[in-house]
Amino acid sequence: MPPWATYEAMYDAASGQPDLFWLDAARRVTWEQEPAIAHRARADGWHDWFPGATLNTCHNAVDRHVESGRGDQAALIWHSCATRERQIVTYRELQRRVAGFAGGLRALGVGKGDRVLIAMPTMIETVVAMLACARIGAVHVVVFSGYGGPELARRIDDVAPKVIIVASCSFQGQTAVPSAPGLNEALAGAAHRPQACVIVQRKGCAASPLPVRDHDFHVLEQSAPVDPVVLRSEDPLYILHTSGTTGNAKGIVRDNGGHAVALALSMELIYGCRQGDAFFTTSDLGWVVGHSYGIYAPLISGCTSVIVEGGASASAINALCHEHKVKCLFTTPTQMRLMRQESRRQPQAVLPALARIFVAGEYADPTLLEWARAYFQKPVVNHWWQTETGWSITAHFFGLPEREPASLKNDIGRPAPGFNPVIAPSEMDEQCGEILLSLPLPPGCLAGVWKERAIHVPTAYLDESGMYYRTFDEGMIEASRAVHMLGRSDDVIKVAGRRISGVQIEKIISAHPGVHACAVVAVADELRGQRPVAYVVANSDLDCPLSVEIIIGQVHQGLGRWVGLKEVRFVKRLPTTISGKITRNSLSVSDGVTREGADSSVRNMSAA
Ligand code: AMP
Repeated sequence: MPPWATYEAMYDAASGQPDLFWLDAARRVTWEQEPAIAHRARADGWHDWFPGATLNTCHNAVDRHVESGRGDQAALIWHSCATRERQIVTYRELQRRVAGFAGGLRALGVGKGDRVLIAMPTMIETVVAMLACARIGAVHVVVFSGYGGPELARRIDDVAPKVIIVASCSFQGQTAVPSAPGLNEALAGAAHRPQACVIVQRKGCAASPLPVRDHDFHVLEQSAPVDPVVLRSEDPLYILHTSGTTGNAKGIVRDNGGHAVALALSMELIYGCRQGDAFFTTSDLGWVVGHSYGIYAPLISGCTSVIVEGGASASAINALCHEHKVKCLFTTPTQMRLMRQESRRQPQAVLPALARIFVAGEYADPTLLEWARAYFQKPVVNHWWQTETGWSITAHFFGLPEREPASLKNDIGRPAPGFNPVIAPSEMDEQCGEILLSLPLPPGCLAGVWKERAIHVPTAYLDESGMYYRTFDEGMIEASRAVHMLGRSDDVIKVAGRRISGVQIEKIISAHPGVHACAVVAVADELRGQRPVAYVVANSDLDCPLSVEIIIGQVHQGLGRWVGLKEVRFVKRLPTTISGKITRNSLSVSDGVTREGADSSVRNMSAA
């Protein structure tokens, strides 16, 4: 149990004596060289956590649990909602597979600092590949397997991976989608060429040959095992791309030491979990929650992590929670809405081992949370996250003896230690505005942004003073420190909790010669929270066929079907400011008609 009795005592300890607080938190991690200082400013102006200290994240997530006698405990429980397969992997088995695959990567010439791109669905092999990279100091770059070839090509060129790892197929619902065509398209479009590709052969879906030398994953796993290498705390562990404010995906870089410390602390303080507990995250491993709470946090803490491939139904979630005595369930409001739809036949879940449920990633309305509380008969809380921060900025703290005030029930909570949110000053002196976080950010947050084969200060995220990190989320902060979120201030759209920039979609639509201009906006969606709607001005000078289906097909091919573009509205012109900037805020489809500015619709259509 952490040493603080109340939230205030914990938060004040982190703000008043940050070095002491974080050096103490660092004891949850096994170091090769223990940290003597908590953080230091980098020459480029950003900051490093635990400089001078050394460790290996894979050792912390796997080997140390085998060494301490927990080798027979389940480390991972995997269930595929698509194929109905299940696998349970103990810590000992995970160590054997990871050490072997790390040896296989070495044999392919992968070493410290090399990037390895992993474009696979949530599978045991995905975790093995990620941990094997961590073991030898290679930097993993997991790309959501639902992305189309062009997005994959962009990420290949951004990180220049030595090796690419894919599964022979992923699944859309129950339908197998072979990976080779997308990878071939990406490799044809990318300037960079990897040295090798590795393929996981899945049952019933053989891979077709690739244009780059390829290897069988399970054969490579049999390579001579290698030990974890010693890494500096600030060495990069992974890069994860996320949609930025400018439409280009940014490669968020995570370090080793700060990441391990923040996640280990969060498991205890926020989720109230300790070794031996089962933690279930429904997120895909290609997103940040999958990285942090599907893999690293539960494994570093010696828990059992339950992960699923594909969208789990309410009955599958209940069955997994029941069978594996899950203590904490971490999911999204979209998943919760699906559960609500499905649960009409069964009014209440009976899950005695389940202690609490967490949601994050998108707006969760209070009625949904109330439904979930009634259904599970357990505390259900919401917390606020970003890919960039790696763990929650605000949360509820189940590791503290203090009971939270009931008024916080439907909020996103209060700041986690080390996060100091303020509202950006506005001329109107309003209480609502963009939420900024004062620098330095706590451990576990972005160590920088990947650009031109190096780590850079994330300048696009800094405010004018250079002293604050911009969250691009708007909200307000109460005197009690409770934070209320109102929504994004930029063009980011959250589709079923997954982040996509409207500009990213616009770029793909604009690439069609028949398109003169376009704007993509978010509209509310009953099930998925938000969905994109495209407004398109056709190019009247060209006799080029253009239809709703063509535009949707182009977007889905470029970004993946998960983007869920179903509605395209053809208009004569888009609303603009005097300076010619498109005013997306004045576009709305909620009432089925375009609002003033987007001159009378030519054709308003949607595809099923
Ligand atoms: P991602 O980087 O994909 O995790 O998306 C981060 C964004 O999701 C944040 O900047 C918010 O806009 C949104 N978000 C995350 N958590 C919440 C939450 N609990 N409530 C509302 N929006 C959220």
